[in-house]
Amino acid sequence: MFYNAPRTIFVIGAAMTVAKVLAVLAIVMTLSMTAFSVDKKPFGKADGKDIFLYTLKNSNGMEVEISTYGGVVHALKVPDRDGKMADIVLGFDNVDEYEKQGPYFGALIGRYGNRIANGTFTLDGKTYHVPQNDGSNALHGGKKGFDKRVWDAKESSDASGQHLHLHYLSKDGEEAFPGNLNVNVTYTLNNKNELVISYEATTDKDTVVNLTNHTYFNLKGQGEGQIVDHKIMIAADRFTPVDKNLIPTGELKPVAGTPFDFRKLTEIGAHISDDNEQLKLAHGYDHNWVLNSGGGKMALAAKVVEPTTGRVLEVLTDQPGVQFYTGNFLNGSAKGKGKVYNVRSGLCLETQHFPDSPNHPKFPSTELKPGQPYKTTTIYRFSTEKK
Ligand code: BGC
Repeated sequence: MFYNAPRTIFVIGAAMTVAKVLAVLAIVMTLSMTAFSVDKKPFGKADGKDIFLYTLKNSNGMEVEISTYGGVVHALKVPDRDGKMADIVLGFDNVDEYEKQGPYFGALIGRYGNRIANGTFTLDGKTYHVPQNDGSNALHGGKKGFDKRVWDAKESSDASGQHLHLHYLSKDGEEAFPGNLNVNVTYTLNNKNELVISYEATTDKDTVVNLTNHTYFNLKGQGEGQIVDHKIMIAADRFTPVDKNLIPTGELKPVAGTPFDFRKLTEIGAHISDDNEQLKLAHGYDHNWVLNSGGGKMALAAKVVEPTTGRVLEVLTDQPGVQFYTGNFLNGSAKGKGKVYNVRSGLCLETQHFPDSPNHPKFPSTELKPGQPYKTTTIYRFSTEKK
């Protein structure tokens, strides 16, 4: 075949130019993530240890502040449809308030998210009694759960975003749970406006684990009234109804024809005051939805849209359930960041295993054995919608 030297040289030259451009682009992308370092500032003391507040940033101006006390998402600044930033999570002013008060604002929850009936469960024939801190139930890990513990922290940045790596060793017998549970949680803020939470844990004895995060969102801005005018979609055909102690009855009830049907975007307030036994028991929504994905793979669990600001939150998870809680127990006594938090001033989407699973053999299992990795990811993804 005829050998066209100038053409070959041209092709090689063009290929080299493309390679150079790609290399420069990769460097620029890496630098854009690492250009700003992760800020760290003192945030008080708890359990005799210094507490720090870390700020992760992305190239769109989004910021998240996370405290080493409880791994709390203390502030989350997100743009609206006009690019105006607002802090959209409820929080207190200082560590003392987080320590004293009980709504679990922004916190990491463990060892067992949500309720265990009577604080009691049996594992391998042995009965355990977790301290009861919610009537007769153990809620969110007992009297001093992971939300009230001091976490070790290390920050890092790379092309995938800025990260905060938190670590906590929950000792064998802490809050009566068996096994030393070594917990690593990484928060990542990336340039896709996603706050990614990766949870990992290992144990040295059979135990039960259900980790989640308890951030209260108000997409209008924290303290800017109720969330009943937000719209929500939850990708679930069923939910777990509860008894008077908010413990699941065991039934997986179809949402069809009930105020729990959020399969299409629906205003949260549309049916919240309906004459419905389940809504009355919980004073609003405070239930676990059985995600259609079944868990085990990342899938869209919920979407929240706030019409006036255009802010949109999508929640993706590999967990089988999500607790949708409409801040029913807030009553104005919790105040922070210049605001008063009244009833329904925030909503939580706590991705999780079903409440009280250790007492419901038919629910997906929350048991963790030595040698088995516990690994789960939840993404809170932010965007905006036009008018
Ligand atoms: C629970 C609520 C509880 C709240 C604590 C939610 O996960 O389901 O019943 O009051 O956490 O603030």
